[in-house]
Amino acid sequence: MQTCLTCEKTFGGRSNQKFCSVSCKNKHHNTQNKTKEAVVLTINKALHKNWTVLNKLYQIYRSTPISVDVANAYGYDMNYFTHIHNSPIGEKYTMVYDIGFKHHIDNRIQIFPAP
Ligand SMILES: [Zn+2]
Repeated sequence: MQTCLTCEKTFGGRSNQKFCSVSCKNKHHNTQNKTKEAVVLTINKALHKNWTVLNKLYQIYRSTPISVDVANAYGYDMNYFTHIHNSPIGEKYTMVYDIGFKHHIDNRIQIFPAP
């Protein structure tokens, strides 16, 4: 006898069978997928927030260098970005979709729309 991973009922069947029914098997996989997708949704939310903040800051400051603290005060989270863009002259831009910034050594950032 085995114990179903979903409903915990005991059932007879192949020794490698984990679920008592197709319904319990589907329920289990749906729950797992929802948990995995929750991670994606959380990261997407953080990326969208960062994108909104960069656009707002660009409207205010254009490409004038501003302190990272200003971006943080608006809710920017430096841990989330979509990709790094390397310019032909070797400058590195941290991108959030179509907008990004150059990080200066004095801890200021300079915002640019995608080149
Ligand atoms: Zn079951």
